Amino acid sequence: MRAALLSEYHKPLELVERPEPEPVAPRDVVVKIGGAGVCATDLHAQEGLMEPAGLKPPVVLGHENAGWVHAVGDDVTTAAPGEAVLVYPAYSCGLCVACRRGTDMHCERHQFTGLTRDGGFADYVLVDERSLIKLPPGVEPAEVAPHSDAGITAYHAVKKLLPRLAPGTTSVVIGVGGVGHIALQLLKVLGGGAVIGVDTDARRRMLAKEFGADEVLTDAAGVREATNGAGADVVVDLVATDATHAAGVEMLARGGLYSTIGYGGVITVPSVAMVVGESTITGNLVGSWIDLWELLQLHAAGDVKLRTETHPLEAVNDVLDRLRDGEITGRAVLVP
Ligand SMILES: [Zn+2]
Ligand SMILES: [Zn+2]
Repeated sequence: MRAALLSEYHKPLELVERPEPEPVAPRDVVVKIGGAGVCATDLHAQEGLMEPAGLKPPVVLGHENAGWVHAVGDDVTTAAPGEAVLVYPAYSCGLCVACRRGTDMHCERHQFTGLTRDGGFADYVLVDERSLIKLPPGVEPAEVAPHSDAGITAYHAVKKLLPRLAPGTTSVVIGVGGVGHIALQLLKVLGGGAVIGVDTDARRRMLAKEFGADEVLTDAAGVREATNGAGADVVVDLVATDATHAAGVEMLARGGLYSTIGYGGVITVPSVAMVVGESTITGNLVGSWIDLWELLQLHAAGDVKLRTETHPLEAVNDVLDRLRDGEITGRAVLVP
């Protein structure tokens, strides 16, 4: 089969021929890829930033995978060849305390398809039965692949914010890209307050408007003005540079919460500002299997939509370059 391999940092992915994977462990499932989303984390992996997450080259990237069950191990009981599935990217053993709490992403035996194990920038991917979520009828794999990471991460973050999203509140999404355009819709669908999209790129501001933002702006001063000086009750940051961290904290209302989904920058806040503002800062790591299942139900009901563009697997390096240059509006999906 074809696979796009990260063999060396700071180099394009290498398109290689590999043997088709086969079930080895009793709960193994081989999924034929129908679509694999391309994420900023793939860029971070190329830059060598994912070593703390356990990545060691060479590895096939691709962690936003959907497709069809192709082959199953001897003990697999919940999946059969031909079924359309979404792949939950975090490995979840089901036995440790974190897994039993339902926080699969903190599993003691943590692995991640497409980072620490071979992923879906390939014709096939080998995963555990616990990773699978059946697609509702009428939902095509390539259409929902980005939910596996972009969507689940947005959903997990917004679900934690729900008690703060009462009518009359204001939320801000900084960076209306692949994850941001989903977060924005979820804040509208699940919350009762107003949502502002903040982006420096006019195309992404247009996307924000199209996906239901009450207002689209470019900076913290604009948010302060739009809220009559009060600031935002909730800020979700998808860009996560030093600059957006600073802007995100600066635009908070008293008692507000700043939630970062993106990563890369350093958050610097004077403690006096945190105390006076009684502010909260939080981070978000992917989400649980059930988060992804719930999001898929919203998608099937038409409450959340994805903006995607598809490309052949061979175009992976072009797509990564375009993503790095900020030239992708929504999510790019590789279709083998
Ligand atoms: Zn990702
Ligand atoms: Zn576990």
